[in-house]
Amino acid sequence: MTPIIEFKNYTFKYRSQSEPTLREIDLTVNPGEKVLIVGPSGSGKSTLVHCINGMVPFSYPGESSGTLTVGGKDPAKTGIFGMSKIVGTVLQDTDGQFIGLTVAEDVAFALENDCVEQKEMFRAVDEVAEVVDIKALLGNAPTELSGGQKQRVSMAGVLVDDVDILLFDEPLANLDPATGKRAIDLIDRICRERDKTVIIIEHRLEDALYRDVDRIVVIGDGRVVADMTPDELLASDILIQEGIREPLYVTALKHAGCQVAAKDHPQHIETMNLEPYQEKVRAWFEKVSLPEIQGEEKPALEVLDLDFSYITGKPILSDIHFRINKGEMLAIVGKNGAGKNTLMKIINGVYTQTAGTVQFFGKNIDKSVSVREREQTVAMIYQDYSLVGEMTVAENIFLNTEPIRGALISDRDCIRKAAEFFRDMGIR
Ligand code: ADP
Ligand code: MG
Repeated sequence: MTPIIEFKNYTFKYRSQSEPTLREIDLTVNPGEKVLIVGPSGSGKSTLVHCINGMVPFSYPGESSGTLTVGGKDPAKTGIFGMSKIVGTVLQDTDGQFIGLTVAEDVAFALENDCVEQKEMFRAVDEVAEVVDIKALLGNAPTELSGGQKQRVSMAGVLVDDVDILLFDEPLANLDPATGKRAIDLIDRICRERDKTVIIIEHRLEDALYRDVDRIVVIGDGRVVADMTPDELLASDILIQEGIREPLYVTALKHAGCQVAAKDHPQHIETMNLEPYQEKVRAWFEKVSLPEIQGEEKPALEVLDLDFSYITGKPILSDIHFRINKGEMLAIVGKNGAGKNTLMKIINGVYTQTAGTVQFFGKNIDKSVSVREREQTVAMIYQDYSLVGEMTVAENIFLNTEPIRGALISDRDCIRKAAEFFRDMGIR
């Protein structure tokens, strides 16, 4: 197969720098591959992107040696405009990339430049808008969009040109985790369905690996330090040596003394074969002593020998046993579907355990204690919290408090209290 991107002994030095930023890069990407590039800040990842799309040397002058071929062309001879027919780049900060007054105009920009007929232009914009799910936004101004929406518009803008290679420079940087997952999903879908070659640069490795990639290239100080499958990389110590954060579960396994093996597919926690590690992790867990309790030990919440099953009878939680002392902070972690939410809902009384007890400050909490009474002790913020749409933000916040429930204090007091509350919580 002829590579679509090929760096051969490629070195590049910005004119304003005394030392090369990229050194002796040998890197090959085949058509249709999805490659993740990771490396610490300043290691040269964005420079690599700029070499591929022709911004080096046209926007960023400097000297290079060795060779670089992208889609059969030398970017340094082809120019930014010429390369834009082959390579589409979605930058980390999409704001600077918007040109049009509306989303539709912006997406159509490249076609307009190519003097595409209007009818065809409408069709093409419509098609990519569908792919990246921005049809409802076509009439909006790009400035009014959220970070995730801006990124999708930017993606549409490069897809409309039907380029073969898509470069994403830190696509997750400005996105919250949920929107980030959607972005990674979308990139994955575009790569597969539209047969694109995709390069993602990202240091949020665990998030970027939400969908499979073919290879991970590690850049360290301008050089290719590793080029291997995600499974091989996660089994190695290269990430740590290069100062890149591994996925937490990999760090945890290594911390417990496990030798993570590529054959167990550490790429995703959900599908990783954890069996060979269980014994070591359990032994470590049992050996490690909990931190010394400061001051007086006062159990706030105690769960004793708790079992739970839903109506199907399948055991969801068995023999759960733990104590949280007053002032302690505890994290409960586990796979999707492990029973974390069920446990929370038993604690706050939505469900009742099949066996065992729950105690607040040494007192058994059973059916005789109303949900209302439990709320005086335990407050819960749900993973998928929902606000009441017809109410204002203030009303939503005070929904469960005495003032609104019992209308005990005047509206003015309520507003004053709300204002203080918002200030404390950083809501304006
Ligand atoms: P990364 O994307 O991995 O954070 P960059 O490619 O942005 O790294 O930067 C790598 C090195 O190149 C840094 O030392 C940076 O200062 C330098 N550099 C980046 N852009 C330019 C530029 N336009 N002109 C001169 N030096 C630059
Ligand atoms: Mg960068």
